[in-house]
Amino acid sequence: MTYFMDYLPHEVIRSVQLGLYSELLHSSTMWVCSTCATCATRCPNGIDVTGFMDFLKNKILSGNIQPKQKEVAAFHQAFLDEIKRHGRINEFVMMAHFSRKRGGLWKRLMDGELKADMKLGLEMFRKGRLKPIPKKAAGAAEVKDMFKRRR
Ligand code: SF4
Repeated sequence: MTYFMDYLPHEVIRSVQLGLYSELLHSSTMWVCSTCATCATRCPNGIDVTGFMDFLKNKILSGNIQPKQKEVAAFHQAFLDEIKRHGRINEFVMMAHFSRKRGGLWKRLMDGELKADMKLGLEMFRKGRLKPIPKKAAGAAEVKDMFKRRR
């Protein structure tokens, strides 16, 4: 993963110490991060680097900053929106939401990507792996409340 990052995880922390927030917020690092938590688990200083990556993502999405990896940012936002609404992920609704957020619908239609996605979706639906009607999780209200308190 680090191969695709502008800043390596330890450089992210160093940048914060040096007050270089702006450079970080315009970098690709947090969008490349897969939240695997290896860095946080192995950090000799107990720094929650993974949590900090999430903090950077949310900072960008709540501000007027253009994310460097727009598609990953759109996916992240679609994921969070779905959790906020239903307390869990409904893949069908989330992917529809992501598809709308990422834009480029016409281009994807013309180059066949949309058709391939729909074919895959239909196949998953046939196998019972895709539920078009979302169900709320038992703790959906608490999850919504957590999102409210976070703001
Ligand atoms: S959680 Fe840490 S180790 Fe895992 S991809 Fe993100 S920065 Fe890299």
